[in-house]
Amino acid sequence: MVRERVTFLKQINEQTQFKGIIRYDEPLSAHTTFKVGGPADVWIRPSATIFEDYAASLLASADAEGIRVFIMGGGANIVPSDAGFRGIVLDSSGYTGPLAEESDAVSFAAGSSIDLVTEIAADKGWGGFEFLAGMPGSIGGAVYMNARCYDTSVSDRLRETVVLAFDNGAFLKKTIPFRETDFGYKKSPFQCEEAANDRRTLILSAKFSIYQRESALIRREMDALRKDREAKGHYRFPSAGSAFKNNRAFGKPVGKIIDELGLKGLSRGGAMVAPFHGNIIINTGDATASDIRLLVDEVKETVFKHTGFVLEPEIIFCKE
Ligand SMILES: Cc1cc2nc3c(=O)[nH]c(=O)nc-3n(C[C@H](O)[C@H](O)[C@H](O)COP(=O)(O)OP(=O)(O)OC[C@H]3O[C@@H](n4cnc5c(N)ncnc54)[C@H](O)[C@@H]3O)c2cc1C
Repeated sequence: MVRERVTFLKQINEQTQFKGIIRYDEPLSAHTTFKVGGPADVWIRPSATIFEDYAASLLASADAEGIRVFIMGGGANIVPSDAGFRGIVLDSSGYTGPLAEESDAVSFAAGSSIDLVTEIAADKGWGGFEFLAGMPGSIGGAVYMNARCYDTSVSDRLRETVVLAFDNGAFLKKTIPFRETDFGYKKSPFQCEEAANDRRTLILSAKFSIYQRESALIRREMDALRKDREAKGHYRFPSAGSAFKNNRAFGKPVGKIIDELGLKGLSRGGAMVAPFHGNIIINTGDATASDIRLLVDEVKETVFKHTGFVLEPEIIFCKE
């Protein structure tokens, strides 16, 4: 039992004067936009003031004990297993806010809500974040995923990322300058081979290029994008946004391919291909992670059978 093996928490909590929330057997369904996922053995959301020190100690101690740590942001792109997670979930969403401001760049803590960042930017007259208006999740998650919408990727604005990286038994703070070759379509150098479970690098913050722009103009653009998302049904049901990655080689958006094959409305248990959007899988009420997995596999198979295209899921299925 992981719960009995996390005796190091007491010492870390004392050292860092822990502030935040620690829960045992915490249902991950309460922390994902899909509203699925069983209990995590331990779930910890440290407060902003202690986050960096706490995370460094926690990652090192857990590593030494062979206990897995899953880092989560807003839970907007993940499907945890129905059986939950055997290990510690480190929730970064308490680590929020702008950290440093320059005339042409600003850094945000990893746990900052993406949508809130766009609001702060609009208030301050910082152009550059408009494209992210209305996107669920955190800055850390957006950098990890290299989130993309409205023809812009997070990497188009990124200047540098500050991380805690594993180095010789400890997790050290490192600044990684942006290099274009490290990023691609929905790809970042922080992504793990495996289904994102055995994390070695924690994104602490990210610095983005900005330019001075009139707040009213920023708001107008953001309002239009939010309305577009609403019209596309993004917020009608629990989901994780696009289920599959687009691919130029397909010649058309994945949603259109799924639609043309008549798969809209297809369901497995409580999971359904949204009747209003081919590339969104929704939780109609009582979906499980297994329902979502089954449906994703079935759509993949049908698309392959009829077109020869191999769809790549964008949703991350987490190991138990
Ligand atoms: C309605 C809706 C619309 C969406 N629209 C879009 C869209 O237009 N474009 C798009 O790209 N995505 C979209 N998404 C998906 C999602 O919003 C993005 O992928 C977002 O960036 C996920 O951020 P998160 O903090 O929720 O990440 P999570 O789901 O919490 O985690 C995703 C991955 O990032 C890792 N991670 C998170 N934080 C950190 C950190 N600090 N350090 C290291 N690793 C970390 C996790 O381990 C996991 O592997 C949408 C989702 C929804 C629900």
